[in-house]
Amino acid sequence: MFTTCTECGGTIARRADTFDAQMGGRSVRVPGEYDRCAECSEFYFAPGEMDAMMKRASAIVCAEEELST
Ligand SMILES: [Zn+2]
Repeated sequence: MFTTCTECGGTIARRADTFDAQMGGRSVRVPGEYDRCAECSEFYFAPGEMDAMMKRASAIVCAEEELST
């Protein structure tokens, strides 16, 4: 688990946020709890957390496609 940003040395804090994921050429906003640098806004993912976030992103894409058809 990171506590200090490797980019700028800022403090990483976990909080409710929105991550812009790229899914098949489109951008998907995925709300959740993320570790993020307070200084440079870099996101940090624990092992497995990226996979879980991408699953939520694909669920959001599926829901949007169902609405549009
Ligand atoms: Zn930083």
